[in-house]
Amino acid sequence: MARNLIAQVDLQAIASNYRLAKAQAKHAKAVAIIKADAYGHGAVAVAKSLDTEVDAFGVAAIEEAIELREAGVRQPILLLEGFFESSELPLIDHYGFWSSLHSLEQLDMLEDFLREQPDVTGLHIWLKIDSGMHRLGVNPVDVDSMLSRLNALAGVEKVVVMSHFACADEPHRYHTERQLLLLQSTLQGVEYPKSFSNSAAVMQWPSAHHQWLRPGIMLYGGSPFAQAHPIADQLKAGMTLTTPIIAIREVPAGDAVGYGASWIADAPTRIATLAVGYADGYSRHAPSGTPVWLNGRRASIAGRVSMDMITIDLTGHPDAQVGDTVELWGRNLSVNEIAACCQTIPYTLLSGLTRRVKRQYISG
Ligand SMILES: *Cc1c(COP(=O)(O)O)cnc(C)c1O
Repeated sequence: MARNLIAQVDLQAIASNYRLAKAQAKHAKAVAIIKADAYGHGAVAVAKSLDTEVDAFGVAAIEEAIELREAGVRQPILLLEGFFESSELPLIDHYGFWSSLHSLEQLDMLEDFLREQPDVTGLHIWLKIDSGMHRLGVNPVDVDSMLSRLNALAGVEKVVVMSHFACADEPHRYHTERQLLLLQSTLQGVEYPKSFSNSAAVMQWPSAHHQWLRPGIMLYGGSPFAQAHPIADQLKAGMTLTTPIIAIREVPAGDAVGYGASWIADAPTRIATLAVGYADGYSRHAPSGTPVWLNGRRASIAGRVSMDMITIDLTGHPDAQVGDTVELWGRNLSVNEIAACCQTIPYTLLSGLTRRVKRQYISG
């Protein structure tokens, strides 16, 4: 085996996190969000292992959805941003995808398509409302007329109304309640099923649960919250990223390690070099002191992250040897903690892993 940098993906942990999400809202269904290659875990493998268990999958775009269908995934697949051009509508029909619809332009395209293809039936449309995030979604004042237009389309079998929160990960801000109030007044008397909850809302905002949850990051064991959270504590790591020590040297006091000579040994120090770097998706913003897990205890990064390697301080690890396996995040070090060291969020670390990292799948 050559360069042994491995992201071990625990499919059972992901299934257990999905169950934990659904347990927060007993009667709700849940779209397992597997966009961006299942946040770096490998969408095909994750979807195939969850296929008999989940209610539906969610992806960002039709390319991701087609890859899953072609690989044999059978459950419904929701396109979270809908279609970008009308040429996708025949494919949505052909593959049976569910589509979000977030603009008047998309509704016009859908009506034109169904006028030209009167035999099409059974479409599932999730009307996305902009309730205050101001990224995607229709203006609440247009919702009634758009629902009537959808209702008039014989090709549309099922309508769900959806919305997305800007601040559900901040439990003490009023923003989420304001979005919920606007949704409540907009949807007064509307009987369609509703879907408002990303992971943060699944874990923190029961009043937003309704019929369909949309958990993403929590499936992979990442927490959407910057602070500790009782439900986040029950999540299991979906991925454990490990790599071996490829070299060890003794650095004299006063010598520096790595690019920019930014870390200086204050005593004679053993330094280990590991086969992982920013070209693998390990953040270059991980500063000296960022923890790694070696032989049952922590060690820490010493010096800058390079493209293909990092260096760690072996103080307190006199027995460490070339070939020892080091965990960068996962079972023993939460990806949230590493993300915080890098001043980012677990989403960017997980989804930023590159092709160079081998994915290895285990079940439990
Ligand atoms: C990505 C996404 C989600 C999942 O968000 P998490 O914070 O990862 O749970 C849910 N809904 C929509 C529309 C999304 O784009």
